[in-house]
Amino acid sequence: METTVQCALGKGTMKVRIWGCRGSYPVSGADFIRYGGNTSCVEVWVGNTLIILDAGTGMRPLGLSLVTPNAGRPASRIHVLISHTHWDHIIGFPFFRPLYDINTYITVYGLRRSDQSLESTLTRSLGKPFFGIPFTARQARVEFREVDFYQTFAVAQDVRVTTARLNHPYRAVGYRIDSPDGTMAYITDTAPFDQILFGDEQVDWHSKERTLDPLSKQILDRMRQGVLDLCANADWVIYDTHFQPEEYAKRPHWGHSTPNHAIRLTSHAKARHLILFHHDPHRTDQQIDAIEGIYRARAAEFGLILAAAREGLTLTRGLER
Ligand SMILES: [Zn+2]
Ligand SMILES: [Zn+2]
Repeated sequence: METTVQCALGKGTMKVRIWGCRGSYPVSGADFIRYGGNTSCVEVWVGNTLIILDAGTGMRPLGLSLVTPNAGRPASRIHVLISHTHWDHIIGFPFFRPLYDINTYITVYGLRRSDQSLESTLTRSLGKPFFGIPFTARQARVEFREVDFYQTFAVAQDVRVTTARLNHPYRAVGYRIDSPDGTMAYITDTAPFDQILFGDEQVDWHSKERTLDPLSKQILDRMRQGVLDLCANADWVIYDTHFQPEEYAKRPHWGHSTPNHAIRLTSHAKARHLILFHHDPHRTDQQIDAIEGIYRARAAEFGLILAAAREGLTLTRGLER
């Protein structure tokens, strides 16, 4: 079922579709039918430019939709923006059908790291001995482009991408896509910017000193400002809301946020729509319905339109329905 949230302003042609919005690992079963069980993957079209945010298991049905005869939109050039390389954000890549099409050109963007390259991380995690076909056996031409935090680059004429650092174990990248046809921000996975600073090491919360030193505070402030900049006046913000407040209180060291954190930040940034994303894998359809209802009312107090991400949810501006 396709549901559309239409932006009231503008007549652009940016079109965003959710293919996977589940956090941590994919799920299936009667309790997860309406919101879906696939992990992070979002399709963004700006004119003829296709950008894919994350390569979770939602990338498999997205790939099939792109190679379906008469799909209507040829995608010979694809930009894949990876937030980070935790499994739930990359595991769909080997099942992405255009990867095996000689006529496809894919640019994969991800964080530049000192310990290993983006290409070697993906090749090692998605090939032998974890998968039957080596990641290098693809037929598409694939180029890897490592990005830094707080950087802006063009992926097509008039389509710019900006990055920022997110507060997550092993660090993650938030993205903003700017175009004359619409603006969106993709902020997953991240903890809020007040309690714990995540770097490359796992945070042992239970033995950790609970007060932050001034330098950590400064880094967190910079991170928060970076995320505010990504979300500033955006048509849509897709935000990690894995936790409910009581869950966050127990597991702040997992690196995820709650709807309250997302509403506070996106309303401050004067974004128009907030899409709750990276649903806890245990969260049932009924529970997400209830969460959406509660936080939709709360967001409205800040002039923000809120929806929970579900597979098939399409965000458009202007006349398209
Ligand atoms: Zn995740
Ligand atoms: Zn993660």
